[in-house]
Amino acid sequence: MTHFEHAENRGHESVHHFYDYKTGLKAIIAIHSTVLGPAAGGTRMWQYDNEDDATKDVLRLSRGMTYKNAMAGLPMGGGKAVILADPASPPSDELFLAFGRCVDSLGGRYITAEDVGVTVDNMRTVKRVTNYVAGLPSVVGSAGGDPSPWTADGCFLGLQAAVKHRLNADSLAGLSVAVQGVGKVGYDLCRQLHAAGAKLLVSDVNEANLSRVRSEFGAQVVPIDQVLFQDVDVLAPCAMGAILNAQSIPEIRASVIGGAANNQLATEEDGQRLFERGILYAPDYVINGGGIISVSFEYMGHKTESDVHAQIAAIPDRLVDIFAMSDKQQKPTNVIADSIAESIVTAAG
Ligand code: NAD
Repeated sequence: MTHFEHAENRGHESVHHFYDYKTGLKAIIAIHSTVLGPAAGGTRMWQYDNEDDATKDVLRLSRGMTYKNAMAGLPMGGGKAVILADPASPPSDELFLAFGRCVDSLGGRYITAEDVGVTVDNMRTVKRVTNYVAGLPSVVGSAGGDPSPWTADGCFLGLQAAVKHRLNADSLAGLSVAVQGVGKVGYDLCRQLHAAGAKLLVSDVNEANLSRVRSEFGAQVVPIDQVLFQDVDVLAPCAMGAILNAQSIPEIRASVIGGAANNQLATEEDGQRLFERGILYAPDYVINGGGIISVSFEYMGHKTESDVHAQIAAIPDRLVDIFAMSDKQQKPTNVIADSIAESIVTAAG
């Protein structure tokens, strides 16, 4: 199947395949929309089983970025890049220089940053050959740098709003939270949840990441295949996507779901499944918008950390509106969020 007929190709403006013979770089950059501004979204490095999986991922993620940037109130469109490589075997600087030249060749239609498997150092290398990059170490007090702590901030504020709405809880103190994936964002979210007095249950495939949250925050480690099904108040997916699906949803015991992972719903119908089960789902691209707010403000320049804080502080308000509309219209939260995001883009277009 080519990307022309791919089921996930829904109105994408362009999809670019890159291959660099010298470094072995294989990358795809998908630009979903530039209606609101240049297409902004991170670069994911992942060992996909096959190229179709990579194409599906980049098409879904780039569309999600259009919605995320619209909902975050940013003058940015949606795009995403994937590099087809194993993040466990660190790639050379030459590979990231080659990738930077690919980004540069798009002339600013796509702005990149970090995502899963990609570090601030990698982006520093990319910056050597293109200016269309953000998420780099910043001057103290100014916007930008590693987006992960900002993403965690937005998730924490969003979870506070969600537990208030569903459990009528004024804080996360005393509530139990299962966190799937304690990498860059998951770790920082655990730090904030622990400080707020929540009980943490965690899982990760990475032992070092697990022992960090166990020793620092007293988190209880649970098996990888059981983390979604714990008897907890909140489930915070902070690893990979498509974990909320027809098989997993009937077994979930949490009342609230909200976390950093992109594309948590395997299909749109899974939002309906959660709704029917009475589980409050905070749409991923709304609750995890903190990082893109930070990198977009960095890219725009002249923005401070206080500006980032102020914009992230609006995430819970946006979620509260979505939850209220969902209750009123008796529609799943993902459907409500999609329709708001689409109307923002349509109005701008
Ligand atoms: P990361 O790579 O630092 O962390 C992901 C963690 O998940 C790792 O520790 C990894 O070992 C673990 N993991 C992978 N598969 C797992 C599994 N099956 N079960 C349990 N753990 C598993 O990535 P991150 O930057 O923390 O991002 C996490 C998620 O949030 C991703 O989906 C990413 O796209 C999304 N996201 C990140 C940001 C950001 O600012 N970093 C912003 C928005 C969305």
